[in-house]
Amino acid sequence: MGCGAFFACKGGVNVLTEVDLRHLRRCVELAEEALEAGDEPFGSVLVGADGTVLAEDRNRIAATGDPTQHPEFALARWAATNMSADERAAATVYTSGEHCPMCAAAHGWVGIGRIVYASSSEQLTAWRRELGAPAPPVQPLPVQEIVPGVVVEGPAPELAEQVRDLHRRLHHK
Ligand code: ZN
Repeated sequence: MGCGAFFACKGGVNVLTEVDLRHLRRCVELAEEALEAGDEPFGSVLVGADGTVLAEDRNRIAATGDPTQHPEFALARWAATNMSADERAAATVYTSGEHCPMCAAAHGWVGIGRIVYASSSEQLTAWRRELGAPAPPVQPLPVQEIVPGVVVEGPAPELAEQVRDLHRRLHHK
């Protein structure tokens, strides 16, 4: 973990609720589905202000040959096409791994509200290093460095082992 106590990460208060965890578990399921389909294990869910799941997606890089096919990017585009600006601002994107800079920027441009992630980029970077995986071509940065105004919550310590295990399976096929 990047922080000593899970309720005091980054100087803020971790306010993940049971509802948040339920959506994050679905993201992890989608991540596993991606892995089983030969893709990198990332999954995301877009939830409206009233708690309705509006859209979900998973990594589709191997499936399409397009390295920008990240689920958070797909959900930002879905939101831009299907939601009003007010609806987007009140929505939440849940994701198994913190947005990369490309997806964080898309989230910011589209004006979606909160981001809740199961694992941080810092955790993913540490796990990749442990697993001997090559560094990604794009620098992993905290979402707040790309989109300073966005509310970001996570990580979820409850899901860390599970997400780490998906990445272990990816890098040790
Ligand atoms: Zn991304």
